[in-house]
Amino acid sequence: MKTLIINAQVFDGSGSPRYKAEVLIDGNRIVAIAEHIERAGLDDAQVIDADGATLMPGLVDGHTHLGLGSTVEHRSPRTEPEEEQALIISHNARVMLDHGYTSIYSGGNRRPRVEVALRKAIAEGWMPGPRLRAASWEVSADTMKAPSATLKPTSGAGHVGAQGRAPITAEVRKFVHEMADIGVDIVKMPITGESALIEYTSRVLEFKEEEVAAAGEVAWERGIWLTAHAHSSEGIQMAVRHGFRVVYHATYMDDETIGMIANAPQPVYIAPSPGSLWMMGNMDQPPTPGMEVDVAIESLREVVPKMLKAGIRVVPGSDYGFGFNPIGLNAKDLELFVEWFGMSACEVLHCATALGGELMGWGEELGLVREGYLADLLLVEGDPTTDITILQDAARLSMIMTDGRLHKLAPHRANSTLQAAPA
Ligand SMILES: [Zn+2]
Repeated sequence: MKTLIINAQVFDGSGSPRYKAEVLIDGNRIVAIAEHIERAGLDDAQVIDADGATLMPGLVDGHTHLGLGSTVEHRSPRTEPEEEQALIISHNARVMLDHGYTSIYSGGNRRPRVEVALRKAIAEGWMPGPRLRAASWEVSADTMKAPSATLKPTSGAGHVGAQGRAPITAEVRKFVHEMADIGVDIVKMPITGESALIEYTSRVLEFKEEEVAAAGEVAWERGIWLTAHAHSSEGIQMAVRHGFRVVYHATYMDDETIGMIANAPQPVYIAPSPGSLWMMGNMDQPPTPGMEVDVAIESLREVVPKMLKAGIRVVPGSDYGFGFNPIGLNAKDLELFVEWFGMSACEVLHCATALGGELMGWGEELGLVREGYLADLLLVEGDPTTDITILQDAARLSMIMTDGRLHKLAPHRANSTLQAAPA
């Protein structure tokens, strides 16, 4: 099956401005991009007239929890039996795709087996959803135990984290092995606490160095990746020392840690996750001081521009899936990257596409509109490179293509054959 898209303004994901082109898709790959593509041999091709709309790579989200349960279509009480959770996780993936996200690097799932099964179903093409890198749920660490749908932080008074307990190195090893056996791509560890869940704990270490080292060793041995939830420099450095590939939040990263990451032997991706902070600041019930929302926003706005200046890889994604920031609002992150971190819309879109492809581990074939790349594509009514907020409106996505298959095509964009299309 071939698809020819004509009259497109292509944003290719590299960060360069849009350009007018035609794009030919054969199977699940982009096979040609040119000002004019020869029509010979395309009699049976499906033709889509973009009429000046923006053709761009599908979006990649680096930090979403399909297992937390809530989307813009359905709020989860988070008390469902296990079987219902499986349905909800599948539903959540479909909602992500409806909003233009064709890849997810999972931030963790209470039901990792479901996420692994969903990854397979999506890859086989019989379940709608983004390409998925499946993750474990987090081990131990009191702060991360099943957060409720609406945040009701408990007191962190006297919470000393890892310091206050005996090492659990053997348990950490066992956990990483178990998750590798299940087939996850990523094991997630909350190396620091989380003030939004237990007040004033974001800078408390929840794991000891030897435990993090053990996770690093087993993950290396089993060929899987590690992601850290870490707000403090101490926690981030511990993660990077032991080969973690992704760090979430990184709220209080100091200059020394920025230097360490910029010069790390392995690529390290940071998801600063502004969206959840923004949402918490705009909830019906204002956050308590102990949740440190204002403090975190102030720090993040100062720190992320420094990361960018140092050349650190920064990706969007902000804990979407809670009741207060349901899946479907993910593109708010892109606006916050512009507003809070001073990036241009093109720079942000590069992070959300090409860099996202690298994050997924498929940088050579995912995240760009380029010949030979996978056909994960969006047609956006308007120009997101000048107004990034339009990506928050799913109605503006007149085409969503994943792995060469059309998930959505608005009727006004459909031309069935070459004969019906303008020359
Ligand atoms: Zn998270």
